[in-house]
Amino acid sequence: SEWLIYSTWLVGDNISSLMQSVGASEKVFQLMDLLPSDQFISKGSKLQRLVGHVEFVNVSFHYPTRPTVSVLQNVSLSVKPNEVVAIVGLSGSGKSTLVNLLLRLYEPTNGQILIDGFPIQGLDVMWWRERIGFVGQEPKLFRMDISSNIRYGCTRDITQEAIEWAAKQAYAHDFILSLPNGYRTLVDDDLLSGGQKQRIAIARAILRDPAVLILDEATSALDAESEHNVKGVLRAVRSDKTTRRTVIIIAHRLSTIQAADRIVVMDAGRIVETGSHRELLVDGGLYARLTRRQADAVA
Ligand code: ATP
Repeated sequence: SEWLIYSTWLVGDNISSLMQSVGASEKVFQLMDLLPSDQFISKGSKLQRLVGHVEFVNVSFHYPTRPTVSVLQNVSLSVKPNEVVAIVGLSGSGKSTLVNLLLRLYEPTNGQILIDGFPIQGLDVMWWRERIGFVGQEPKLFRMDISSNIRYGCTRDITQEAIEWAAKQAYAHDFILSLPNGYRTLVDDDLLSGGQKQRIAIARAILRDPAVLILDEATSALDAESEHNVKGVLRAVRSDKTTRRTVIIIAHRLSTIQAADRIVVMDAGRIVETGSHRELLVDGGLYARLTRRQADAVA
C-alpha cells in the first residue's frame, strides 16, 4: 500500500517534472529508500487558508548519502505571499536543493521551513504538494490529447473553459488552436517543441491554482522560447489580482532575473546576496560578476 500511495503521488502532474529534475529514474528509487515511509501516508495538518508565505529559517542540509558534504549552510529566506523571487548562482550552489526541501523530498538537517508560519513537517504531505505547482526544465507530456495533458493530475472536476483559461495564462492557447485538432490533438513525440511542452506544463501547474509556483527555467541555450515563456507567465501572474501567487524561479537568464521582485544569489550553499537587479549591480558582488559574464557571452 505504501507503493500505491507513492505511485499515486508519482502520477500527480508536478511529479513527472519532478522526476525529470531529480534526474535518472534510479535516483527516484534511491529517493524511495531515503524517505521515511510514513511520509507518504496522509497525516498532519491541512491549513484552512494558504497565502503562500514561504520561510527558510537557518536551514542547513546534507544529503543522506553524503553526510560529509554540507549542501546548504544556515540559509534564511522569507518569500512573502505573491512575491516573485529569482534564485541564481553557479551550478552546484544549492538552488535545486532548496526546492527539493520545499517539495519535502528531504528534511532539513538543521533549522526549519515555515509555510504561513507553520512548520512544513507538520503539514499533510499530499495536501501540501497539491498546492505547489512545479515546472521542471524538461516537463514530461503523455500520449493523450492536449486537454488531458493540461488536466493531468487534477483531482477536481475541470471544465474545458478552465483548461483554456490556464492555457491562456501560460501563453499556450494560440499555438494549441493552430494544431490540427486544437485541444483534442493527440500529443506524440514530435508534435511540440521544447518551449511548447513547457507552456503545456505551465498551464497544467496553473490550472491547479497553486499557492506557490516553482519554475526551473530551462538552461538550454537552444531554447530561447523558454525565456519568452517564463517572462510571459510572470506578466500573467502579475497582471491580475486573482492570479497573483508566490513564485520562486530558479533563473538562468538575465531577462527573467530582472523581472523578479527580488533576487537571491547563492554560492556554495549559502545565500550571499539579496536585492533587486539594480541594488545588486551597484553592490558589485557575485551577481554583478555573473551578470557581466552573461552579458559578455551574449555579446
Ligand atoms: P544546477 O544549477 O547545476 O542545477 P544547483 O545550484 O541547483 O545546481 P544542487 O543541485 O542543489 O545545485 O546541488 C548542490 C550540491 O548537492 C552539489 O554538490 C550536488 O552535487 C549535490 N547533490 C545534489 N543532489 C544530490 C543528491 N540527490 N544526492 C547527493 N548529493 C546531491
